[in-house]
Amino acid sequence: MKIILFDIDGTLIKAGGAGARALNHAVRAMTGHPEACKSFQLQGATDKTNFELAFKAGAGRKPTRKETAALTLKYVDRLPAEVRASVKAKKYKKVKGVEKLLVKLSRRKDVLVGLGTGNLKDGALIKLEPSGLLKHFAFGGYGCDSHHRSEVLEKAVERAAKLAGVKIKRGEVFVIGDTHRDVQAAKEAGYHSGAVLDGFGDPGLVMRSNPELIAKDFSDMRPWLIWLGLEKDPKGVSRGTYICPDSPIEHAHYGRTGADLRDIETGMKRLRAAKKKITG
Ligand SMILES: [Mg+2]
Repeated sequence: MKIILFDIDGTLIKAGGAGARALNHAVRAMTGHPEACKSFQLQGATDKTNFELAFKAGAGRKPTRKETAALTLKYVDRLPAEVRASVKAKKYKKVKGVEKLLVKLSRRKDVLVGLGTGNLKDGALIKLEPSGLLKHFAFGGYGCDSHHRSEVLEKAVERAAKLAGVKIKRGEVFVIGDTHRDVQAAKEAGYHSGAVLDGFGDPGLVMRSNPELIAKDFSDMRPWLIWLGLEKDPKGVSRGTYICPDSPIEHAHYGRTGADLRDIETGMKRLRAAKKKITG
């Protein structure tokens, strides 16, 4: 069973700044600060982290637990109106090709498609609602699960395993996002990582984070399907051996995965333990 986890903002949709506006609104109501989100980088972090930073920008200190709860409530309350405003202004968009890919993936019995997002669950559902893509996602990991993106992904996999009633190996999980933080989180968890460049991520940072696959978007489905191991490579070259030379941007870079790094770490630990045994 293959588990494919999609990030939301910049990977599935672009909500035209609805999330930032809703958070600004909530912080303004509590602290008076008009544009708290301007003072830090929202993209790729979990809502939990963003809420704390936004509150801190307004109040000059971390929120108490009670204040975080109040802020969350105000945000979720405001978000539907902001999403609607984006739709109305034609600033709400689906990322190119993603719907077609999701339809194709949803038809397969050997694949489970889920969300791996920094958004709170409520926020995720509200943001995705106008896209009509929600029906493709049976489970997810959300920003309310953890501050740490890698733990959000692990939670999603845990839910997928429960849903499918099978054990899932780390090598069977594929994470798709638009920022280097998505890639880092996937590697931390030992999952495969792929990234779109046409989202909100900094292209330089995305490339440096070295995901296994980088593509502009999903308009050419083929590199994605090959990376996912669902289609054969037309060139007959096996994974892990080459950089696809077709175009400079939409290239497939089969690099080292987090799983490899983890293997090396375990190997080093074993080696050190063995050495200690010999030398005392
Ligand atoms: Mg994103």
